[in-house]
Amino acid sequence: MRKQEGRDFPREKSDTLWRLFRSKKSLILLAAVIVAVCVLLIWNTLSLQRAITHRTEMYVNGVALQLASDLDNRLTKVTVDLEMLADSVIRIEEDQGQETAVCSFLERKAAILDFTALAVIKENGDMLCSQEVKGDWHELPGITASFQGENGVSFVEGRGILYSIPLIREDSVVGVLVGLRDEENMQRLIQPESFYGQGLSCIVDTNGNVLISPTDVRPFMELDDIFREGESSDVQDIRQMQENMKRQENGIFSFTAVDGSDLVLSYHPLRTYDWVLLTLVPSDVISAEVEGFITQTVCIVVAVIVLFAAIFAAFFQIYRNHFRQMERVAFVDPLTGGGNNAAFQLRCRQLLAAAPPGTFTVVLLNVKDFKLINENFGSEEGDRTLTYIMNCLNKAVGPEEAAARADADLFFLCLKEKDPETIRSRLKALSETVNAFNRTLSTPYYLILQPGAYIVDDPALEVTVIQDRAKTACRNRTADQDGECVFYDAAFTQRLQKERDLNALFEGSLENGDFQVYLQPKVWVENGSLGGVEALVRWNHPRRGMIYPSDFIPLFEKNGKICRLDFYVFEEVCRAIHRWARNGMRLFPVSVNLSRQHFDDPEVLLKFKDIADRYEIPAGLLELELTESIFFDDQRIENVKHQIRKMHRLGFRCSLDDFGAGYSSLGLLMEFDVDAVKLDRRFFLDVSREKTQVVVRSIVELAEKLGADIVAEGIETPEQLAFLKTVGCRLVQGYIFSKPLPLPEFEERWISRDKK
Ligand code: C2E
Ligand code: CA
Ligand code: CA
Repeated sequence: MRKQEGRDFPREKSDTLWRLFRSKKSLILLAAVIVAVCVLLIWNTLSLQRAITHRTEMYVNGVALQLASDLDNRLTKVTVDLEMLADSVIRIEEDQGQETAVCSFLERKAAILDFTALAVIKENGDMLCSQEVKGDWHELPGITASFQGENGVSFVEGRGILYSIPLIREDSVVGVLVGLRDEENMQRLIQPESFYGQGLSCIVDTNGNVLISPTDVRPFMELDDIFREGESSDVQDIRQMQENMKRQENGIFSFTAVDGSDLVLSYHPLRTYDWVLLTLVPSDVISAEVEGFITQTVCIVVAVIVLFAAIFAAFFQIYRNHFRQMERVAFVDPLTGGGNNAAFQLRCRQLLAAAPPGTFTVVLLNVKDFKLINENFGSEEGDRTLTYIMNCLNKAVGPEEAAARADADLFFLCLKEKDPETIRSRLKALSETVNAFNRTLSTPYYLILQPGAYIVDDPALEVTVIQDRAKTACRNRTADQDGECVFYDAAFTQRLQKERDLNALFEGSLENGDFQVYLQPKVWVENGSLGGVEALVRWNHPRRGMIYPSDFIPLFEKNGKICRLDFYVFEEVCRAIHRWARNGMRLFPVSVNLSRQHFDDPEVLLKFKDIADRYEIPAGLLELELTESIFFDDQRIENVKHQIRKMHRLGFRCSLDDFGAGYSSLGLLMEFDVDAVKLDRRFFLDVSREKTQVVVRSIVELAEKLGADIVAEGIETPEQLAFLKTVGCRLVQGYIFSKPLPLPEFEERWISRDKK
């Protein structure tokens, strides 16, 4: 089974989120840039169009002005020509008086001056003409005006324009000279070539009646319409134009014609005859080509934007795939395909954040003796088992719960439960599911899941702390709680913390001599004299004060520090005996407690012997107390027997401590050759009980027969003491005589008075 690499999850996660955030930001930025480019483009195009429209209007205006000026010149020339002819006609009539002469004169001049016909109309209605003409011109308005002495102009339907001036002799009008120009003549003039043949001009009177229009009159019929219609948005411009025309002012404006085409209309009053030249040009006459380029440019820009957007989309897609892959790597346990610890922590955080305290319970599941599966069936089978368990867990959790493999054979569950009984029954059901495969096996192999649970009463805690609490609960199971769910309680953590502190203080204290040896006397019942002492360690820490063995011995037993402490105590005891001997004081057996941990070291007794020798301790003075429990360890029995023999050889006495605290058996006494048996204080809690008396008496008798001393421990009351006398127990250790005392005090109270 492969172990999963530890991951720096939170950092990885924040990194990923940061990248996601960054990509979103860049996406928004890109969209903003595209919108800005589009807006700029549209704005630019509109400005360009406005500029082009302005240019077009200026151009049309310029050309139309030129045309109007040409027309004006032309019309002025007609008038001047007619005035000169009038003078000649008067003279010819005066000189020759012949009508034929006038007619031939008119005929000649008409050809020269490009008139269709020239005629003289007399007051009496007679007409002398360069050629035969149809109709009666006498009544035409222009002719009538000329008979009044003014220059006139008239339109002859289907023929053309009649220009007329009065023939004046001796200050009175004697006739009218008329010049006919056909329409084509004028039409040629008003067909400008400047607008690539797209423009159209016409001459109208100030009321908008068309006087002369090009051959194709269709657009002008529609133009007529715009004067009549009053609803278009251009109506304002048209009114303005009508007013301007009456005031002999020119102007220009753009409008949309009835057929939807955009046009530019310029109007220029001519100097003669109250006529106005209208020029109508499609507004795209200039911009048509430019607009082509604009459209092309817009298309190119749009294409570029689309291309960029497509490239970005492709990149985004690639990035997303990459992100998903990273997510898989970061959150999926490669071994089982389920969630890993990072995924669990993330999910937990989400679940806990959204719920009130006490909604969820985080459970750690340890697969008991998993390494045996690896050892017995191979790591592949181990991997398969883990995958199988993971699948079972995934099926067992609901949508608002989570399951993951954290490491090796450790799984986490986040259950939406708070009731310990419900949690226990769910875990029991889970364990049954996991072991369902055994139903078909002839030799079942049970997988024991050891759950430790923390009901999350403080969801604000880091998920790792929450997981640690489930771990602490799991670790704190007792031997009889094998597959049972152990729930976390705050005392676990406090104890752990305390243990951690004490461990940290150990080394310093050992060097500083904070560990002190206290001595508690063992007293002969019959006379109260000293029969021996037991050395008991005290930890007198300068900051933390007195610490008792129950607080640190079990801890140091767990981590092996106890061996060094025992050597320290042993040496202190040797030092004291050495001093007593040197001072000529009375010597007596001193017992020292030995942890079972020492028996892993085959050389341990030799080491003790070395120390004893260094302080020249006589044989038989040092006693080693071994707790009852080490005698039960089947694997060690032979070793212990061997060690006891060795102790005797090296000159140590050996006692069996705490006899009766556990499952004591009288067989032990026979099996092991101990010098003393220390009866645990529990024997004497109720000395009035008959059974106690029987048992203690039997032990004492048996011990005596085996040649071992009996020491009664923890004797506090005179009743207990009286009882001991009745059962024949002679040596007593207990508060009734003395508590464990510091060396100086012990010497003062127990040795000085007993000095040899
Ligand atoms: P133990 O070896 O059974 O030591 C006897 C314990 O009973 C001592 O507790 C002692 O103070 C206590 N005691 C003596 N008379 C009375 C009494 O009349 N009433 C009551 N209630 N208690 C009495 P202490 O000193 O706290 O030691 C506890 C245990 O710690 C010892 O039990 C021993 O197993 C262990 N221990 C103490 N010192 C050492 C040591 O240096 N090395 C090792 N390995 N273990 C030690
Ligand atoms: Ca002891
Ligand atoms: Ca004891």
